[in-house]
Amino acid sequence: MQGGFGRLFFCLFRRTCPVTTTAIVSALHEELAAVLALMPDEQQQVVGGRTFWRGHLHGHDVVAVLSGIGKVAAATTATVLVERFGVQRIVFTGVAGGLAPGVRVGDVVVAQRFLQHDMDASPIFPRHEVPGYGRASFDADAALTAQLARASERVLRALPSQLGPEVLNAFELQTPRCHQGLLISGDRFVSTTAESQALREALPEALAVEMEGAAFAQVCHDYGVPLAVVRTISDRADDAAHVDFPRFLREVASRYSGAIIDALLTQR
Ligand code: SAH
Repeated sequence: MQGGFGRLFFCLFRRTCPVTTTAIVSALHEELAAVLALMPDEQQQVVGGRTFWRGHLHGHDVVAVLSGIGKVAAATTATVLVERFGVQRIVFTGVAGGLAPGVRVGDVVVAQRFLQHDMDASPIFPRHEVPGYGRASFDADAALTAQLARASERVLRALPSQLGPEVLNAFELQTPRCHQGLLISGDRFVSTTAESQALREALPEALAVEMEGAAFAQVCHDYGVPLAVVRTISDRADDAAHVDFPRFLREVASRYSGAIIDALLTQR
């Protein structure tokens, strides 16, 4: 907006209608690149060795950031987003390994609950319980999650046909589905059939496994900030998990991330 009047109007408008700042977070570069491509005016700010991109997306105030991989990187990023950037809601898009039998490569999981599968202070606390909280799992924000699920379903209906037959065949993507439920996180890339089987036995409700979601959920719980997480299934967390990972990221997951955030922020 240019000129003195414009700026004055903008400031008055902001004062009377406080703006909600949304954080858009990904763990990997390919995923965030698709989101940054949608932002016309982003400006960089480096805090704690991480680059935060402030700008707008479909008229929303947005801070986009790469969290990095793992729970510590995720918790630091979430804390800086809340403390330094004052974000009022956080949306995470990324990839995950499918665990539950029907959760296939190319499907999408929208988290309703989060749990750290490698948290174990037993026998002092029950396995998976986070000491000091009296609970093992943390909830996603119901309203934001419902919006994210709607956006994901919209993208799943349209995007696969745009990927082209070569990519669809390479990853055997048929009719991708959107699942909602428990997402589990830990500081391990789960890439053996034995390990994913052990996780299924310990946590039969878990739909998918990744490395950041539950850390975001704990920080968001501490600060009372709404969180929603969507993960495209890149692998089955088994012996073949690493094989096509980079190609899937490049050709499928990054397109899903951009399209889902686009659909979320254009939703009424
Ligand atoms: N090869 C990548 C590293 C991927 S680490 C690189 O070179 O950067 C895995 C990332 O994808 C994490 O952010 C994690 O959240 C998610 N992920 C996907 N599949 C996973 C699996 N099977 N187990 C754990 N995390 C997984």
